[in-house]
Amino acid sequence: MCLSEESQVKLKHLRPVLLMAALLISACAETSRSVHTNLTSGKAKVTLLYKGHVQPIEGKTFLPWSTHDGVRSLSTSVFLIESGGKVLIGDPGEVRKGEWPKIMDKLADMGISPEDVDYVWIDHHHPDHTMHLGAFPNAPVVDFWSIYKDEIWSDHPDNFEIIPGVTVVRTPGHTEEDSSLLVDTDEGVMLITHMWWHNNLTPVVDPVGEDQASLDKYRKALLRKADLLFPTHGEIMKNPFKNKEWDGKPYTP
Ligand SMILES: [Zn+2]
Ligand SMILES: [Zn+2]
Repeated sequence: MCLSEESQVKLKHLRPVLLMAALLISACAETSRSVHTNLTSGKAKVTLLYKGHVQPIEGKTFLPWSTHDGVRSLSTSVFLIESGGKVLIGDPGEVRKGEWPKIMDKLADMGISPEDVDYVWIDHHHPDHTMHLGAFPNAPVVDFWSIYKDEIWSDHPDNFEIIPGVTVVRTPGHTEEDSSLLVDTDEGVMLITHMWWHNNLTPVVDPVGEDQASLDKYRKALLRKADLLFPTHGEIMKNPFKNKEWDGKPYTP
């Protein structure tokens, strides 16, 4: 339990207990910080809070979403990164009905309140990845080129380190505003990306992509660097193409 300011002032006048008070205050400060710090290695820790999906709805046009009556069921994987005493939420987008409060409960169980979140990152601007951006009142939003907080829109360079070991890189293709994250974890470098939606490395050809050639260029450049891969409608997996050329086919584990 932390001491109130009033109690702390009184203790200053009690020399015999001064040391104990100092220790208690220091313990309180340490407890509140250690919630957000991976103390074991100092590397970033990625936690999947919600696994996304993309599925057809029977009798409706699934792909591409360009017909007037097209409908599909989809949601985005929401994740947490803790590193260097900082907390980042990735892709707080659309989730299945009733799931958002459960995500907030998971954070609360980890001792993280919405106000504690230091940054929110989105991999691109479509609403399926941005629906809950406003849930974290103190967190600047980071995208492929800028940081947004209140009325300030400040630019950042490519390969920008948001928090220690978490770097945002531009990967245009699905849209011009795409980026991915390279995250330095205990298990190696994790590529968090929308360049593939699913863990079977599909879609190979993005049905709603703006620039397939660009998408393929960044896929090839980044995939070989990664030990782990996290497609942002899927979940974290080992990268089957570490130090190899991606074969451009759906992946079967
Ligand atoms: Zn999109
Ligand atoms: Zn998406």
